[in-house]
Amino acid sequence: VKRSGKNNFQFYQMTQAKNDLESLKIETNLRKALERDEFLLNYQPKLDLASGKVSGVEALIRWKHPQKGFISPADFIPLAEKTGLIIPIGEWVLRTACMQAVAWQKAGLPAFEISVNLSVRQLYQPYLLEKIQGILEESGLDPAYLELEITESIMMDSEHALKILNELRSLGIKISLDDFGTGFSSLHYLKEAPITKIKIDQSFVRNCTTDSNDATIVKTIIVMTQQLNLEVNAEGVESEDHLAFLQKYHCNEAQGYYFSQPLTADEFARQFSRMERI
Ligand code: C2E
Ligand code: CA
Ligand code: CA
Ligand code: CA
Repeated sequence: VKRSGKNNFQFYQMTQAKNDLESLKIETNLRKALERDEFLLNYQPKLDLASGKVSGVEALIRWKHPQKGFISPADFIPLAEKTGLIIPIGEWVLRTACMQAVAWQKAGLPAFEISVNLSVRQLYQPYLLEKIQGILEESGLDPAYLELEITESIMMDSEHALKILNELRSLGIKISLDDFGTGFSSLHYLKEAPITKIKIDQSFVRNCTTDSNDATIVKTIIVMTQQLNLEVNAEGVESEDHLAFLQKYHCNEAQGYYFSQPLTADEFARQFSRMERI
């Protein structure tokens, strides 16, 4: 037992060292990725359940590494946050998404919201507000069509973060609380922060038709947000049953593979007319 324990430890050390080296390499590559134009955005439609129309799209970053192929944001965003690279990357995402939204409008698509994920770290970057204002001016996007998705986090619980969020709101930008139910102080933020929408985390939606606890959680979040006069989005909608459940409880908005995977900008524009189908 002792021996195998030791071996396990050595194995752990070795894999740890390998992982450290690996993440070091990724970090170096991450630094160069912006210059080399290796990032792109995919867009996942969000459907308004009352009208059946596309109410918006969520911009999701992709990294096309020249050797490794596509790397998931779940793998590199945490590293970008740790190293601070999320600041220039996040700015690129915002600019690209806003420009794309205007390009679609110019191409004749109806106007809809564009949602961009904002890392908590970005809330603490100097001149965030000025940067976003600059991007809105540069792109010509009406701020009413921009939604920023933030997650619950202990760091958000500060005067500074609340001040920035309030300033963003007063520009007309919408703020939605992502991954709702998975953090620690959800209800506190609902009271304090200028949130316009809640996104029910996919882990609850996934089992809402098979697990009575998840069903209760999803129903309760929907009722609560409506009583608070907030909008509510359900993520990770993968089946007709999920959709029927959400419609029954009057959820405002839904997104998930049932409607569409995240698409490239061109795919999205091409498939748009076929999307409004519920
Ligand atoms: P998220 O913001 O919660 O985004 C939703 C994730 O769920 C996306 O994964 C999306 O592709 C996936 N998804 C959508 N519908 C379904 C479904 O029906 N079933 C399942 N199983 N999954 C679904 P993705 O694109 O891999 O992004 C992962 C996470 O990376 C995002 O989670 C977000 O936290 C982060 N991320 C992505 N793009 C950005 C970005 O531009 N900036 C920042 N800061 N974070 C980003
Ligand atoms: Ca809306
Ligand atoms: Ca999100
Ligand atoms: Ca989410």
